Amino acid sequence: MTAGTAHSLCWPAIGKDPGSFRVRPHLTDYVAARAAFSWDEARRQLSGLPGGRGLNIAYEAADRHVAAGLGGREALRFIRADGGAHALTYADLAERSNRFAAALRGLGVGRGERVFSLLGRSPALYTAMLGTFKNASVFCPLFSAFGPEPVRQRLQLGGARALVTTRALYRRKIAPQRDALPELRHVLLADTDGHPEPGTLDLAALLAEAPADEEIAATQPEDMALLHFTSGTTGTPKGAIHVHDAVTAHHATGTFALDLHPEDIYWCTADPGWVTGTSYGVLAPLSHGVTSIVDEEEMDADRWYRILAGERVSVWYTAPTALRMLMKAGAERAAGHDLSALRFVASVGEPLNPEVVLWGREAFGQPVHDNWWQTETGGIMIANFAATEIRPGSMGRPLPGIEAALVVRDEADKAVVRDGAAVLVTDPDTMGELALRPGWPSMFRGYLNEEERYRKCFAGGWYLTGDLARRDADGYYWFVGRGDDVIKSSGHLIGPFEVESSLMEHDAVAEAGVIGVPDPVAGEVVKAFVELRPGVEPSEGLRLDIIAFARKRLGPAVAPRLLDFTAALPKTRSGKILRRLLKARELGLPEGDTSTIEAGPASDATQPALPGSSGDPA
Ligand code: AMP
Repeated sequence: MTAGTAHSLCWPAIGKDPGSFRVRPHLTDYVAARAAFSWDEARRQLSGLPGGRGLNIAYEAADRHVAAGLGGREALRFIRADGGAHALTYADLAERSNRFAAALRGLGVGRGERVFSLLGRSPALYTAMLGTFKNASVFCPLFSAFGPEPVRQRLQLGGARALVTTRALYRRKIAPQRDALPELRHVLLADTDGHPEPGTLDLAALLAEAPADEEIAATQPEDMALLHFTSGTTGTPKGAIHVHDAVTAHHATGTFALDLHPEDIYWCTADPGWVTGTSYGVLAPLSHGVTSIVDEEEMDADRWYRILAGERVSVWYTAPTALRMLMKAGAERAAGHDLSALRFVASVGEPLNPEVVLWGREAFGQPVHDNWWQTETGGIMIANFAATEIRPGSMGRPLPGIEAALVVRDEADKAVVRDGAAVLVTDPDTMGELALRPGWPSMFRGYLNEEERYRKCFAGGWYLTGDLARRDADGYYWFVGRGDDVIKSSGHLIGPFEVESSLMEHDAVAEAGVIGVPDPVAGEVVKAFVELRPGVEPSEGLRLDIIAFARKRLGPAVAPRLLDFTAALPKTRSGKILRRLLKARELGLPEGDTSTIEAGPASDATQPALPGSSGDPA
């Protein structure tokens, strides 16, 4: 199979000058770093529980820094709505999480039992996460903006024993359906001022009474530590299981892909309700002993520039959707903010358009480094590194310790396996399903209570990611699309991302989502949903102009034949464009699991702003 275009390859590579780095990057020679790497060596970078009692994520994240005399260092610096800050030191985190663990023990919450959080980015969330690990229980963070239905569904699927939340969230989302959650024994409220709701407990009082110095429960590397729900195309959300050994990968990838150094001020903008916000908003930076910024508010362009400048952020990890919003707001918004402390910018979660990679240089003085991973992989697998060449539009190359490949898929879109081994794509620039050789520490160990669904993720010795990609002759991987999103038109396989990126190069376009719609002749034709930049009015002339623009760049076989303007593309709350939802709505099909969809205008986003604007201009 070959991808329809190689559009992204048209962008010039961004070279790196080794002499220009203020801080010496951890990975300077890609080939040598891969050759020298072993997971055993990576484990030696951690401490392990004192007395050889195993490995516990919380000890690596907090207590070991205290033991090394660094307890006074700021671990988490919370930025309030008014811009003011309050911090937790490593010693604070170690002590509070000890108390939380003791409180859980006092409540009879045991080893392996699930403790959920439904909290904003407040100190209670971080305390509860580390405290749960210290009690050998399993932590499952839920995004606080989830509605009552996805919350109940996840609490039930995960068999929640305890939940930490706030009074308002409890009243709105839990209390009305508490009867449907018989396994949920304890609800701890983080903000009761001593007056909990009926059927709940006061977290502050429990922490105050709990001892601060109880020994951390002995946990082994393979003990379950985290549960992260991720949405499938169909069926219920899947609960991906991660173990304590995952911290080995969080730490190693923090070294190689994020280039963390102890003196960094680091900001990961993801909420810990998503895997990125847990692995890289909490665990990787804490394991490195850096100071992390936690913004308690939602995204706002001016506020973000103020934080980047005011907090002297040196390493920033964010997402394409946020970067595109900043870009929409204009690079001039960055002017006047001193971003000179910033030395590394990375992005994950969705394809990163080449235009955005380059725009980063204009706005932040740094190109944006794309990297790739997913809930199931628990940590970054493929990345553009601080000191190596960036190919805009490429996700980069596999990390040390990670073996990636492209598996050939058959007509039924199944991985081809011969004699027990997967058949791999060997030619450059040829599409296949991105696969990873199992064995890295943060790989998921199962979907909770869904053995069969887990088993289906593997074939011929590989973990199949469900994403389609190409690899160029130098080993850089290029994202083509989710397996489900790829468009087959007149024999061409078209990745929606390339078409979207090309549309974004048009001056009027802010964002685009691209799908295939059935066509009697071509099989499928490409349809684009386009969000315009602020102040640009939709018109028939503009619609034809954008289509003509795309044709010139992509050729008529790949460019959209149909184009609708839309006020807002449907996105998940973590910012991913929901192409499958665009498609379901376009074709009047069932929408599947929509529990992670962003509320608001996005819910009717496929309504064209210009009625009747579809149609082939040719
Ligand atoms: P999640 O499990 O919710 O984190 O979603 C993981 C999926 O997001 C991946 O399987 C990809 O489809 C997509 N994704 C993540 N990072 C990237 C990236 N850098 N480029 C393209 N797609 C990405």
